[in-house]
Amino acid sequence: MREHAVVIAGGGPTGLMLAAELTLAGVDVVVVELRTSQELESSRSGGLHSRTIEVLDQRGVAERFVSAGEMHSSVGYGYISLDISDFPTRHNYILALWQSHFERILAEWVDDLGVRVLRGSEVVGCTQDDTGIDVELAGDTPIRARYLVGCDGRRRTERGTDDVVRIATLTYHPHVSARDRAATARPGRVEQPIRAAELVGALSLATDLGTGQPLEHALRTAVLAVRLGELAGATSEELSDTYYVALLHASGCTSNSHEAAQLFGDDIAHRAAFFLIDPSDPAQVLGFYREYVGAGRPDDVREGMLEAALANPARAAESFAAMCEVAQRFSSWLGLAPGVEEALEYVFARWDGRGLPREIGGEALPLPARLLHVARDISLFLSAGGPEEARAVIERRAGEAYEPRLVQLALGDLDDAVAELDEARMWGIALAHEPFPQVMLTGERIDAGFGAIAALIGLKSPWLREHCVGVAELAEAAAWRVGLPADEIAFLRRAALAHDLGRISVPNAIWEKPGPLGLGEWERVRLHSYFTERAFAHCPELADLGRLAGSHHERLDGSGYHHGTEEAVHRQAARILAAADCYTAMREARPYRPALDPAAARVELEREVAKGRLDASAVDAVLAAAGHRVAKRPRELPGGLTERELEVLLALVLGHSNQVIADDLGISAKTVGHHVQHVYQKAGVRSRAAATVWAFEHELVQSAP
Ligand SMILES: Cc1cc2nc3c(=O)[nH]c(=O)nc-3n(C[C@H](O)[C@H](O)[C@H](O)COP(=O)(O)OP(=O)(O)OC[C@H]3O[C@@H](n4cnc5c(N)ncnc54)[C@H](O)[C@@H]3O)c2cc1C
Repeated sequence: MREHAVVIAGGGPTGLMLAAELTLAGVDVVVVELRTSQELESSRSGGLHSRTIEVLDQRGVAERFVSAGEMHSSVGYGYISLDISDFPTRHNYILALWQSHFERILAEWVDDLGVRVLRGSEVVGCTQDDTGIDVELAGDTPIRARYLVGCDGRRRTERGTDDVVRIATLTYHPHVSARDRAATARPGRVEQPIRAAELVGALSLATDLGTGQPLEHALRTAVLAVRLGELAGATSEELSDTYYVALLHASGCTSNSHEAAQLFGDDIAHRAAFFLIDPSDPAQVLGFYREYVGAGRPDDVREGMLEAALANPARAAESFAAMCEVAQRFSSWLGLAPGVEEALEYVFARWDGRGLPREIGGEALPLPARLLHVARDISLFLSAGGPEEARAVIERRAGEAYEPRLVQLALGDLDDAVAELDEARMWGIALAHEPFPQVMLTGERIDAGFGAIAALIGLKSPWLREHCVGVAELAEAAAWRVGLPADEIAFLRRAALAHDLGRISVPNAIWEKPGPLGLGEWERVRLHSYFTERAFAHCPELADLGRLAGSHHERLDGSGYHHGTEEAVHRQAARILAAADCYTAMREARPYRPALDPAAARVELEREVAKGRLDASAVDAVLAAAGHRVAKRPRELPGGLTERELEVLLALVLGHSNQVIADDLGISAKTVGHHVQHVYQKAGVRSRAAATVWAFEHELVQSAP
C-alpha cells in the first residue's frame, strides 16, 4: 500500500493551498482530485481579495497571480462599492482573475513544489485506526496516511463521500502532541487597551527627530496648546482635538524626505531651519533657499537648482499639502475625533490667510489649528533662543501668523507656562495634560496605529516603501510556523511594523547613498535601532515592544547593534524579527545594490546561520514562510535533554501525574519516573515547580518573557 503523511481529498483552491502549505512545512502530501483537468462547470469566483494576495506574497508567489489578473481599488458586492485603496497593505486592491485561472496557477506552484496530485481519482471511503487512516480510491489501490483532510468543496452525498469530511475532522483531533498542548496552555495575555496619547506620543518623538527638533518638541507643543486653549475658553472637544493635532502635526514629515534630500542635501537640517523663518517674508524665504538649496554641490549646480526651485513655488506648496494629508490619514486610521483630521489640514495656515492653504485665515481656521500655530512656534523658539526670543517672535507675528487674542493670552501666561515645562519630565507632563476623557485604543485600532508608523517609515524613502509591512508579514508567518502563541505573534507583528521608526532620525542622503558609507555615516545608521527602542521607552505598556523592535540588528554572537549583546536576541520573537528583516531587505533593491533573487537571499541567510549570527530555526521558519522548501534540522535542546525527556517535562508543566504521562506516551510509569529524574538532573532542579520555571526560562513552552 502507498503511504503518505497526509491525503488531501480535493484539488480545488483549498486543497491546493493546503498542499503547498504542508509541503513547505516539510510534510509529505498527496492530493486526490476527481477532475482530470482544471475545467470548471461555471465561472465561480472572479477574483482574489487583498488578504489572500498578502498570504500568497508571504509565500513568494503573489507575482504569478498579479501578472495574470487585473487590479481594482474598489470592491463591489451587490450595490455596495467599497474603496480599499487605503487599506494598510501593499496589496490594497482586489485582483480580478477567474477561478479557473488562479486554480491553474496554484496547480503550477504545487507542481513546482513537487507535490503528487492524482488527477481523475476519487476518494470513495476510508477506515481509520489508532495510528492512521486507509483511504479508498475508486478503481485504484488505497493509500495509507496519518491524516485525511477533506477539501472536497460542497458536500457530496453520493457514494458516501460525505463521510470524508466528517472522518477527517475526527482524525485530526487526537494527534496534538504534549508539546503543542503545553505551548498553548499558557493563558493568553488579555490585551489591555493603551492610551492613544502614548502611541501618538512615541510617534511624535520620532517625528521630532525627523524634523531636527529636540525630542520633547511635539509633547511640549501639546502641553502649551492645551493650556492656551483652556485660557481661550475652548470646549472640552476642542481641547482634546488640539492635543492630538499638536502631537500629530509633524507626522507627515517624511512624505517629502526623498525629494527634499535631492533639493537640500540634508532633509532634516533644512526642515529645522525652515521652521524658524517667517515664510510670508520673501527676503527670509530667499535667504533660506540660498543657504540650503543644493547644499554641498558645486556653485554652478546650486545656482541652477535655486533658479528652478524659485520658478516653481507650487512644488513647495504641494509638499506641505502632502504632509498635512498624511497626518490626516494617520488620524483617521487611529479613529481620532473628526475635528483632529479637520484641523490637521491647516498646520501651515496663517491667521492672515497668507499660509497654506491660501486665502483661508481668521476664524475660518479651526480653533485647534490656531492654538497649534502659537504653541508650536513658542516651543520652536524656546529651543532656538529661549523664552525672550519666543516672546518676541509671537508678539511680532501677532495678527499675521497668529490670532491676536491668542497671542495676548499666551504672552500673559508665558512665564508660568515655561516654569512648568520640565524637559526631563516632559513625557509625564504631556500625558498628564491630555484633556478628559482620555482616548483609548484597543485591538485593531492599536494595529492601525502601528500601521501608521510603518507607513510613516515607508514614506521616508522610495527604497523603503514596503519594507516594514513586508517584514511584519514575513515575521508573522514565520512565527506561526514555529508555534509562538497568538498574543506573542500579534506583539511581534506590531514590533516589526515599527522596527525602523528610528530611521527617521537619519538623513536620506545616508540611506540613499549609492556607495559605501563613511565611518560617521555608519555611526548614524547604527543609531537608528536605538531611537526605535527609545521612542517607546517612556511608556511602560510599549517599552517591551520597543525593545523587541529595536533589536532587529542584534545578532546571536553579539556582533550586531545597538546593544551588541547575545541577550538582546534571547527571545525567539527577536530572532525571527532579525531573520525576517534580513530576508526582506535582501529581496528589496537598495541604492547601492540590486534586489537579490529568492535563492541568493536564502544563501545569504544560511551563511549568517553558519557564522552563528542568525538563529537556524528562525531562519528556517522565515525561509519556509517566504516559500522556500526547508528540511527539518535536528534540534539542540537545553541541558542535553532528549526529545522524550522534553515530552515528559512538558507534561510535568501541565501538572500531569506520572501515570497520566505514561498513558499518554504509551510507556510504563516506572520509565516515566526515570525520565523525570534525568530531567531534574539535567535542569539542575529538585522539584516539579522548579522544573516548570526552568522550562519557561528556556522558552520550551514558548512563554513571552
Ligand atoms: C456555481 C458557483 C458559483 C460561485 N461563484 C463564486 C463567486 O462569484 N465568488 C466567489 O468568491 N466564490 C464563488 N463560488 C465559490 C468558490 O468557487 C468556492 O469557494 C471555491 O471553489 C471553494 O474551493 P474549495 O477548494 O474549497 O472547493 P472546490 O472548488 O469545490 O473544490 C473541491 C474539489 O474537490 C474535488 N472532489 C470532490 N469530491 C471528491 C472526492 N471524493 N475525491 C476526490 N476529489 C473530490 C472536486 O472535483 C473539486 O475539484 C462559487 C461556487 C459555485 C459552485
